[in-house]
Amino acid sequence: MSKNSSRRYEVVAAAKNWHLRETPQQLTADINAIFGEHTFNLEVMREKLPKEILQALLATTEKGQPLDARIADVVAMAMKEWAVEHGATHFTHWFQPLTGSTAEKHDSFVTPNIGGGATAKFSGKDLIQGEPDASSFPSGGIRATFEARGYTAWDPTSPAFIINNHNGATLCIPTAFASWTGEALDTKTPLLRSMEALSKQALRALALFGVKDAHKVYATVGSEQEYFLIDEEFYYRRPDLVTTGRTLFGAKPPRGQELEDHYFGSIPERVLAYMTDVEYQLYRLGVPVKTRHNEVAPGQFEIAPIFENCNIAADHQQMMMQIMRNTARKYGLVCLLHEKPFAGINGSGKHNNWSMSTDTGMNLLEPGETPHDNMQFLFFCAAVIKAVDQYQDLLRASVAHAGNDHRLGANEAPPAIISIFLGDQLEDVFNQIEKGKPESSKSKDLLGLGTPVLPHLPRHAGDRNRTSPFAFTGNKFEFRAVGSSQSISFPNTVLNTIVAAAIDELATTVETRMKANVAFEQALHEALQGVIKQHKRIIFNGDNYSEEWHKEAERRGLFNLRNSLEAFERLHEKKNEAVFAKYGVLNERELAARAEIFFDQYFKTVNIEGETTESLAQTMILPVAIRYLHELATTAETTKRNGAEPTGVLKTLQEVNGLVNDFREALQRLHAVNADLGGDTVHQKAYHMRDKVIPEMNNVRIIAAKLEKALPDDFWPMPVYSEMLFVK
Ligand code: ADP
Ligand code: MG
Repeated sequence: MSKNSSRRYEVVAAAKNWHLRETPQQLTADINAIFGEHTFNLEVMREKLPKEILQALLATTEKGQPLDARIADVVAMAMKEWAVEHGATHFTHWFQPLTGSTAEKHDSFVTPNIGGGATAKFSGKDLIQGEPDASSFPSGGIRATFEARGYTAWDPTSPAFIINNHNGATLCIPTAFASWTGEALDTKTPLLRSMEALSKQALRALALFGVKDAHKVYATVGSEQEYFLIDEEFYYRRPDLVTTGRTLFGAKPPRGQELEDHYFGSIPERVLAYMTDVEYQLYRLGVPVKTRHNEVAPGQFEIAPIFENCNIAADHQQMMMQIMRNTARKYGLVCLLHEKPFAGINGSGKHNNWSMSTDTGMNLLEPGETPHDNMQFLFFCAAVIKAVDQYQDLLRASVAHAGNDHRLGANEAPPAIISIFLGDQLEDVFNQIEKGKPESSKSKDLLGLGTPVLPHLPRHAGDRNRTSPFAFTGNKFEFRAVGSSQSISFPNTVLNTIVAAAIDELATTVETRMKANVAFEQALHEALQGVIKQHKRIIFNGDNYSEEWHKEAERRGLFNLRNSLEAFERLHEKKNEAVFAKYGVLNERELAARAEIFFDQYFKTVNIEGETTESLAQTMILPVAIRYLHELATTAETTKRNGAEPTGVLKTLQEVNGLVNDFREALQRLHAVNADLGGDTVHQKAYHMRDKVIPEMNNVRIIAAKLEKALPDDFWPMPVYSEMLFVK
């Protein structure tokens, strides 16, 4: 960059200078032809596996029977052959450690010999088990270094897939990751265990309703992912974004999202090209992405897949985030998945749509036209109500992390208080149940649009409520408090487990009454009545953002766990430990390990932010403010020498000098709390971050925003919000 180029020039450069980094891959409108072509799917297996082997494998993947290890060699050979045909040179056990992201360690299919030549390597053993010696992943104390062995185990229920890079391709085998004691060190293992628990209890309940043909009940999940795209020219000039994923400085721009012109607006050309590219890669990987649109904030977008079984949905979520990040670079963009990249601007979440479905395709949360006489639906819906009320704190903890603290309760995302939105129709049905037998369902009427040329639309019986953290949306619940950067595994592990527990209890109640010769319908009615009487406090159809709700929720005795640390503390509660243990999802040690890691991650995240704030304030912002003071002082002097009165200059100097003094002091205080860790345990450190570091970071930030508004534009050392958000 030439010396006299100004920041204005950089903005123009960002807007104009991007070009495709690679020739775009061949996109085709024939999605059918490419869907899943990079996965070792049923079609490939049919072609490559002997019949009996395929059958044995399907018994595991589709019916949940134990894996027959003897088939592994044959499957491995077929998988390798297929992968090599697709250009793969390496394979990896792809797993999800407790960092919340994914991990891989690549091994070559072919190993060069010292004496020349090469030996092929990929046996059944390589497929089934790996020992990545990944001892640096967090284990929350489960793995001391002397017992550091960690194993990966093939998850045959999630298809292996191929990830291409510029110069090759890698076969990725979804795996679970556990210690040599068999304790889960990852997010997948407990998720699979929770799915098993849910399936068992739901099948038991279905049998009461006479449903006998189902062999498995799956939790189904479709999660809508929000994200930001900004030009990489800006990104790399913002060390805070590079280091922490969010801006630690930035004054509110004169124009934010108040015009509401971006939401669902026409998608900018470059962004659309990016989205299309991402979608085609995901189609090839068998990820059924369906919708895309602009979100509320400028520069914010959303992508959503069609729902799948929850284990596969969780794997696909991770692949999606990875591909979104990687592909952005091709278009000169950076994809920000942080919950709150820009203060004062709408944050990003991941709406987790959740339901239960039998292997025969019956959605257990489908109310039909007349929910009041759909007792099976009411049973499962009541189980969810009961579960969410009894384990509000667990659900809240499952979405807690430093990034999400900026969103939850900040009047743009659901509050930190968990409640359920049922909608008019269902609330009415449950009210009737409370009083006696339900007789009717408020019907869906037609929505006339006041002109004969437009069609009459069916009006949904339940309206939407955008402010609810847990909303019934037609035939599923939408858990909206999940953070955009988060793995969906733990929130769904919690959901599956607590609903399994509620179904279990309700089914037992019904069965016990039936043994006492009470008719099924009556026993069921009593059970539902019990749920609504005991748990109706969790139902709230109003505005979750309002002050009144906070008061009302407190009156009802609902939890309001305002930040991550308050939520993490709940993981140690007896009832929470008990529910995980009872359904074999997490034993006490495994849960304690997770709590430990959550505290540790919170501490580390905020610690890095605190240090980064200090460093940028000290080395980027303070120096330019001082330089400006110098310029003002010199100007005042020369003005005077030339016989004019520098009143304006001196006033400006006074103001800026005042800010510099304040800034220097705030920085000093931040420095002091940064220099301290608050104690030795991760808990003490985490609380030090929350109670000491965050407030001081915020003070520094507030004065920096004033400086940003006071300093000359060409002095300001980093791109500002209006540039990052609006230049596309
Ligand atoms: P909405 O209009 O409520 O946003 P959509 O049909 O657009 O509904 O779906 C939003 C998300 O919910 C999608 O990811 C979709 O696949 C998912 N979804 C729909 N039905 C189910 C279900 N039965 N279980 C889980 N997720 C579902
Ligand atoms: Mg939705």
